[in-house]
Amino acid sequence: MLENVVKDKYERPILSLRITITNRCNENCIYCHHDGMVSSKNEMTPDELYTISKIAKKIGVRKIRLSGGDPLVRKDIVEIVEKIASLDFKDISLTTNGVLLEKYAQGLKDAGLDRVNVSLDTLNRDTYKFVTNKDYLEKAKAGILKAVEVGLYPVKINMVIMKDINTDEIKDMFYFCKEHGIILQLIELIESENCDDDKFNAEYHYSLDSIENKLADIADNVRERKFMQGRKKYYINDGEIEIVRPVDNSKFCANCSRLRITPDGKIKPCLLRNDNLVELISHVRNGESEEQLEEIFMNGINKREPYNT
Ligand code: SAM
Repeated sequence: MLENVVKDKYERPILSLRITITNRCNENCIYCHHDGMVSSKNEMTPDELYTISKIAKKIGVRKIRLSGGDPLVRKDIVEIVEKIASLDFKDISLTTNGVLLEKYAQGLKDAGLDRVNVSLDTLNRDTYKFVTNKDYLEKAKAGILKAVEVGLYPVKINMVIMKDINTDEIKDMFYFCKEHGIILQLIELIESENCDDDKFNAEYHYSLDSIENKLADIADNVRERKFMQGRKKYYINDGEIEIVRPVDNSKFCANCSRLRITPDGKIKPCLLRNDNLVELISHVRNGESEEQLEEIFMNGINKREPYNT
């Protein structure tokens, strides 16, 4: 039973909030959609992020995810997590490329972070350089292992699958994950505003259909995660693989329980749209009351509608 949770017009409960706390990143991935954001110099402060999270908590949000850019390029990342964690959410997580994770993992754990998702598309140095435009594979791996060591749990690896780039590495990545108790998430490449010619998608897009079929054949068990957009989780040999494919998936929308905050402090009701954002941060900066801020949150929630039906 979901109690004290706000639902949108389509009866979808709002259970999680994804906050993009910066647009800055220390890598430059060839496919990056920058989470659909325009650049912002005026980042939200830890206190402002606390206020936003407090309102989210009041309307029933249970989970907070911090993203970027790369959230770890913010020097105040531990303070941000500490402030949000003081609100006692069920789950606080962070998505990072892992490059700075070795440095911050312990501090983040102590500050109240529950878990991390780390993007790692390959275990091959040249491929890593090609995809991210940086030579940071070893740093990213060290960050992942540190996260496991300090007890952030579960650690998940996000692997974006690209034709002729890393489709032959899924098995190796699975064994790397299994060895360290990490969950592997295979992500279908989605078209990016960053790559404005269609050639990019045509060249690298790889449907996860055939991979899912293979996983279904060999899995010991399969589970579907309702409030995670119907994602399927395959259990193989004591390892776990999850499939993430948001595009053209009406289940993704039907079960979407996530609201987003852009790095310039706007409520983003839908991942796939930028034309219905709701201004929030200026109201926080003007010192408006919690009731007024709650009303603004509700405006954002009222604008939610399924993109794919
Ligand atoms: N810098 C952090 C990171 O690397 O995880 C957080 C931001 S990144 C935009 C968040 C996630 O989006 C990563 O797992 C990345 O692989 C994924 N992503 C970015 N562009 C994508 C695309 N075009 N298709 C599929 N996934 C994408």
